[in-house]
Amino acid sequence: MRSLALSALLLTPFLGTLAQDGSLTGPASSPEAAGYSCDPTTCKLPNCACASTNIPGGISQNDTPMFLVLTADDAVQSYTVNAIASLIGQRKNPNGCSPKYSYYTQISYTNFTFVTDLYVAGNEIADHTMTHIELAGSDEINGNLVTLNALAGIPLNEIIGFRAPYLNYSAAMLTQLQQSGFTYDTSSTASIPVNQNGTDAYWPYTLDNGLANDCLTFTDICQGKPKLPGFWEIPMYAIFDERGGAGTHLMDPWLDGNATAVLSWMKNTFAAHYNGNRQPFGLYTHPIHIATGYPGVADPTTTISMINEFIDWAQQQSNVWIVSSRQLLDWVRNPVPVSQLNNIPSFQCAMPVVSEKICNGIPANENGLLSSCPFSAFPFFTCYGCPATPPTPADPNPSQPVVSGRLRYRLPSDCQTAFWDPIGNKCLCQNGTSCQFNDTTRPIGPNGANLTGGGTGSSPAASQPYIPFNGGSSGAIASVQISGGAVAAVIFGFAGVILGAVSTLIS
Ligand SMILES: [Zn+2]
Repeated sequence: MRSLALSALLLTPFLGTLAQDGSLTGPASSPEAAGYSCDPTTCKLPNCACASTNIPGGISQNDTPMFLVLTADDAVQSYTVNAIASLIGQRKNPNGCSPKYSYYTQISYTNFTFVTDLYVAGNEIADHTMTHIELAGSDEINGNLVTLNALAGIPLNEIIGFRAPYLNYSAAMLTQLQQSGFTYDTSSTASIPVNQNGTDAYWPYTLDNGLANDCLTFTDICQGKPKLPGFWEIPMYAIFDERGGAGTHLMDPWLDGNATAVLSWMKNTFAAHYNGNRQPFGLYTHPIHIATGYPGVADPTTTISMINEFIDWAQQQSNVWIVSSRQLLDWVRNPVPVSQLNNIPSFQCAMPVVSEKICNGIPANENGLLSSCPFSAFPFFTCYGCPATPPTPADPNPSQPVVSGRLRYRLPSDCQTAFWDPIGNKCLCQNGTSCQFNDTTRPIGPNGANLTGGGTGSSPAASQPYIPFNGGSSGAIASVQISGGAVAAVIFGFAGVILGAVSTLIS
């Protein structure tokens, strides 16, 4: 109910500023341009990692999970949340837990109640600047943290990741991120296929010895710069078409070709990663492009079906897990064989148990308790009280007028979001005490607790039960052939080839 009334007011401003990220032309890096050196005998996990195509921790290929990293960018609205749900809403990872994803969140046009809901459900909320500007300064980057904390109830120490709007970053921006307490950035591109000489498809690495991606794209990085010890870079892994290294796609690849072709690109690229050193495969989305019913966006049914067909196929391979960037990084920092993956806390599905009807990011609880903040530029709902004015980089946490003699109380630093009652001003379960969580993690892989298979569900319409992986079915990954390709890499900016109805509205 809340989303319908709100959405109608958001259409024009949201599409009008819809971001187009990730356009590149030409190879993004080369070993010469990188000028990278790193000594793995001194740079060691968990807080230092060299840029390398080798599997972290020396784990064997067979014991290495194949991560399918799912990310969403820009404003959080009912449309975008539903779009991602159409891809993973019915799915489970091999331990029975719902897949999580990372949302690189801007403040403009975001409906904060959905941010709270996503976070409490276990997804990663990350920073994408407040107003989606290029080469943002500390006001835009830190202001995003302040607003997400104030109006979505996201604990500050839980916002650890950043993606630059338009993927346009700089050494100064990365330095700012470290100074602001971020753990990682994920704005760089791995643009050379994993099975090609000189590939830049590195596992996530720290910047103790500078960047090794995008060295041909930006002028103030690589050759040992910037040195940011302990700060991580998670490369975004490109998808390649039938031209191999000459045909590169990064975000929303489904905007670059017809469904049959894009499905083939994704399968081939995934297979190359899977059959090689299992560098992660990314589905990097602007979910608004596959939003159903959003004016100006073509009917996404065919695209959604194609993406689901891809994920179905991927999940039927052994050891495939759908993860957020944060989960990926948790494994990279402490790599374990896939049979032990469920020992990593963030991979488990402990859900908070809160029966009280408080405004806490659990939709069944907060129904009727949300504050409606009808700003003309971007009306939104929140559990935490409407500010007097919309948040801006100059004032990311405006004061809250007293309504009916009452304030809503913002999340304190010693209470978890799901247990905080912003109306009653009390924490139902203080950190450090025995907060109640219901762990539904269960070993449902075909090898039981070894969790070495996976896959349930497909499109939302299907109620498909668990699909076991038998290692030899006709759909198995070994049957996928990798197309050869030329050396040069070209990443097509999708601005020129996206859905026609949208393209006219995007700058
Ligand atoms: Zn963006």
